[in-house]
Amino acid sequence: MTADSAPEYTTAMQVEDFRRNLAAVQTKIDAAARRADRDPGEVRLLPVSKTVPEDRIVNAIAAGCHQLGENKVQEAKRKHGNLAHLDVSWSVIGHLQTNKAKDVAAFADEFQAVDSLRVAEALDRRLQMAGRGLDVYVQVNTSQEESKYGLDPDEVPDVLRAMPNYSSLRVRGLMTLAVFSDDTERVRECFALLRGLRDRIRDADPALIGDGGLSMGMSGDYELAIEEGSTCVRVGQAIFGARATPDSMYWPS
Ligand SMILES: *Cc1c(COP(=O)(O)O)cnc(C)c1O
Repeated sequence: MTADSAPEYTTAMQVEDFRRNLAAVQTKIDAAARRADRDPGEVRLLPVSKTVPEDRIVNAIAAGCHQLGENKVQEAKRKHGNLAHLDVSWSVIGHLQTNKAKDVAAFADEFQAVDSLRVAEALDRRLQMAGRGLDVYVQVNTSQEESKYGLDPDEVPDVLRAMPNYSSLRVRGLMTLAVFSDDTERVRECFALLRGLRDRIRDADPALIGDGGLSMGMSGDYELAIEEGSTCVRVGQAIFGARATPDSMYWPS
């Protein structure tokens, strides 16, 4: 989305603000699913709380957000520690440096950005020590942009074949970020590529890809993603409000 076409995202402060924004997003999820002849219940909404301070997150939890996505490990770890008394679990959705695998293994319930076997191995080692398991998605670069993390689509089958070596990791499916563009056809192609890859892998060997989930779609493109088969949309700004920090903080530019 470019600045001039970006929708206005109103900042949610109070519990009722969160309820209203969540209901509006859910209505659009339901409509997009129905357009694609899909059951809206197949689509999980993962609210993304990065940069949002804890006093507002408390209100989001009260409004029903019981799983939250965070891109950066240090921020997620701090929030997990400070909000441990509340009914919320944490999904880390950003690229991981192996030296932070220990932290993710300690507090996260889900990790959506497996982009190398090194990361899988580092996580598994720490999880085995902690006696924990972790739901994971393998991240795929579907836009052929240098500026996106993720495996090349060609690399994905081999990585999935190696995943059973890391028995603490439960593969749930594939994750991607689409190209950031106003050209909806280009965005749609990224999502369709991920779905096609999932379908081919599942046809060849269903055991490789767990639930065969597709984590794709964010505030600017989640309706398109659902039309293309998404089973998990990661939505930040449309629930919490516009972010001041540029997205280049979260992926390489
Ligand atoms: C921030 C982020 C999102 C959500 O983006 P919004 O524009 O706030 O909806 C989704 N996925 C990842 C990996 C992110 O870092």
